[in-house]
Amino acid sequence: MSELSSFFREMTGAVVLGVNPPVHDFTFFDLWAKPLGLLFLLDYLRKRGNRVFLADCIFEGRTGDLSFGRNTVRKTEIPKPAWLAAIPRRYHRFGLGEEDFRRLLESCPVPDYILVTSMMTYWYGGVFSCIDTLRQVFPGVPVILGGVYARLCPDHAKRSGADMIQTEPLDLEFSLPATDLYRGLRYGVLATTFGCPFRCEYCASRLLEPSYRRRNPGLVLEDAARQLSGGEVRDLAFYDDALLAGKERHFYPLLEALNERHPGTRFHSPNGLHVREIDDECAEMLKKRGFETLRLSFESSDPEMQRRGSDKTSDEEYVAALASLRKAGFSGGQLETYILAGVPGQSVESVERSIRFVLEHGGNPKIAEFSPVPGTPSFRRAAELLPGLTDEPLLSNKTVYSSYLAGNMSPPELQALKDLAKGQREGRSKKPKFAKRTAYYP
Ligand code: SF4
Repeated sequence: MSELSSFFREMTGAVVLGVNPPVHDFTFFDLWAKPLGLLFLLDYLRKRGNRVFLADCIFEGRTGDLSFGRNTVRKTEIPKPAWLAAIPRRYHRFGLGEEDFRRLLESCPVPDYILVTSMMTYWYGGVFSCIDTLRQVFPGVPVILGGVYARLCPDHAKRSGADMIQTEPLDLEFSLPATDLYRGLRYGVLATTFGCPFRCEYCASRLLEPSYRRRNPGLVLEDAARQLSGGEVRDLAFYDDALLAGKERHFYPLLEALNERHPGTRFHSPNGLHVREIDDECAEMLKKRGFETLRLSFESSDPEMQRRGSDKTSDEEYVAALASLRKAGFSGGQLETYILAGVPGQSVESVERSIRFVLEHGGNPKIAEFSPVPGTPSFRRAAELLPGLTDEPLLSNKTVYSSYLAGNMSPPELQALKDLAKGQREGRSKKPKFAKRTAYYP
């Protein structure tokens, strides 16, 4: 089954358990990530007379506090999957361990339905392990798998053991995400729009959200009030792909209202902001109304890479945006700038030039390692270099795809690029040594 809208529309009087699985990966960091789609669906279902519960393996596996409400998350070393066995790095389960997850489930009422969400395609190991545990604790209860992995890899997801897989966007009237199901969450998450008006060659936004839509402003403010009115939450992360598109009519009035109703709230944009939209007025608005951390979507100073990124910014626009942000009072350290690395056809020298360009103009470069996303033009080019990608999502892991598996750059080259970017963040200026490339294949 793929189109589950009617199934959910008709569901009533049921006990529904939503589950966010653990993550199996080399690295994981809490960038204000919450399973927003699952939370919208749980709220929808409870409004239709169902009782809903949430078991979030990442949140429940938190071990300590980080800045701006984020948490460190428990990690347990696990054996690497066979496909990644040759990678000389440790592999972990992030979030609740299996025994603690089992105990958490046993404290929940026996559900009539279980909804499991998923994120990165190469995190499916955590999803499969989670469904396995659910089967043991709640035998016979139907499991429905949704989320990004299920949408992008529907055939592979059939191996998960789920009874139903949601492979199409849900056509339901969502209003507010059920963030109140969390106890002790120290930050809020907010979407003011869904989808993105651009079409970058390496991004799946258009596949996951075919249309770009603005959310009802009243609902956005109600959503924020629900999360912020208790007084314990001081940080709010925006989930929009294109937060500043059409900003004068949608985002500015919302930001002003949020700042007036919830003074002292610190705002964050973990998804990159579109540089072209940032002028003096915009920078001043962001600063005055409480933005604390920014991520700028620059991605590359290479014209060919800029074309593949929808030509959404130019070198000149980036320099102008930095000047506006500095003038408004943001420090260099706050101006984190995404630089893409490892895209098929992108040279190491091109990444190096982009980093140097950002550093020269006072920005704070942050390398974003490319991961091939099924269904995108970049995935097709990536699969030409590494044909196994089409059948095995583990090979698209961003930590190892370009440096270890595809041979786009060697691990020392990637490290040198990171050092180049990081050196400036730490106030050092050192010339990196780019090691001779030695292709590495498992
Ligand atoms: S602008 Fe960002 S979200 Fe939109 S298509 Fe490009 S990479 Fe994806």
